[in-house]
Amino acid sequence: MITRKDFLKTLGWGLAGWQAVGAKGLAASGRLMPDAEKRARYRGLKITGVDIHPMDLAIKEPFKIAVGTITAANDILVRVRTDAGLIGIGEACPAPPITGETQASCLAVARDIRTIIVGRDPTAIESLVGSLGPFLHTAPSVVAAYDMALYDLVGQMAGLPVFRLLGGDKASFETDRTVSLAPAAAMAAKAKAFLDRGFRTIKVKVGQDPAEDIDRVAAVRDAVGPEAKIRIDANQGWSVPQAVWALRRMEPFRVQFAEQPVVAWDLAGLKAVKDESPIPVMADEACFRPDDALKLVKAEACHYINIKLMKAGGIFNSVKISHVAESANVACMVGCMNESRIALTAAAHAVASQRNIVFADLDGNEEHVADPVVDGMAVRDGMILLPEKPGLGVDIDPAFLKTLPKV
Ligand code: MG
Repeated sequence: MITRKDFLKTLGWGLAGWQAVGAKGLAASGRLMPDAEKRARYRGLKITGVDIHPMDLAIKEPFKIAVGTITAANDILVRVRTDAGLIGIGEACPAPPITGETQASCLAVARDIRTIIVGRDPTAIESLVGSLGPFLHTAPSVVAAYDMALYDLVGQMAGLPVFRLLGGDKASFETDRTVSLAPAAAMAAKAKAFLDRGFRTIKVKVGQDPAEDIDRVAAVRDAVGPEAKIRIDANQGWSVPQAVWALRRMEPFRVQFAEQPVVAWDLAGLKAVKDESPIPVMADEACFRPDDALKLVKAEACHYINIKLMKAGGIFNSVKISHVAESANVACMVGCMNESRIALTAAAHAVASQRNIVFADLDGNEEHVADPVVDGMAVRDGMILLPEKPGLGVDIDPAFLKTLPKV
């Protein structure tokens, strides 16, 4: 039992502790409150231009999931410039089989959005991202790129990392590592190799033949031992009866949750699987935007929701999804496509800012041949660490940037 007085005292100690540590950390990093002069300079700040670059990143080997195979990250980089000299950075990672976007379509939309936002105040995220709402239907990853660049700018002005600006304090958290679709033995060997590199949670791609999928999960469990966590992702690959059949048979392998067992548009089917499955069900492709999250929780169609910046259109809408889900007691994960550490760092800020985002799947760059990113999130022993730098705390390598064409 704890008395009301004891409870308040404990709460007070916690806050005082954070204030002491937080203030020390700020002073040590030289990241103090902007002075009056800076604040005056940032008042009435305007976006003066946007550099748009196609950014192609090779991956070591094709990444196979139930709905398609990814052979490279064909992304877009945006750098939003302001009249105070600050630059905000963002990245779009179109995933054609998921969002229907391509690099070419993203470049076209990025140019159009540029004409909308130049001259606007970058701190007005509510109205800026709001005015880009219609683009979420066909170009969510481009909206995400602009959204994260705006948060980067506002964080730099405030002198705070984006996750702290949003009220979060989870500077470090676990991520899983995903095993691409392959024969069971090959997937088991990969999973073991990831475990040896310090990852403690393995995400196993399934969604092909349900019997083979059971073999895949069995082989991975056998390879990683009883302690490691296993989650699976069918990427819409099963019918409702197949999903129920497979998930019942996977129960002995202690699967943490199963992502998107059935086709994205079938909420009733997702609910049917959820009601029959011994393994918790997570919606992924069924949830792009906050209104999708509302439909999912109203239908009681899933136990969890997987948020991606590239589906939601960035941090602003991702936080909204988390709030909708939290109101229905549905916890969330933040996942990714195949983006670089720029967009991954933005996603990590979203995770770090929300209590209700309890899982992370932020390994999209792990198979990239090169990492042309400076600073940003680090991954050590399966843990993501966010930098205590203003804004996103991430940048593109200037030498690499020079090699990119500009649109
Ligand atoms: Mg998924």
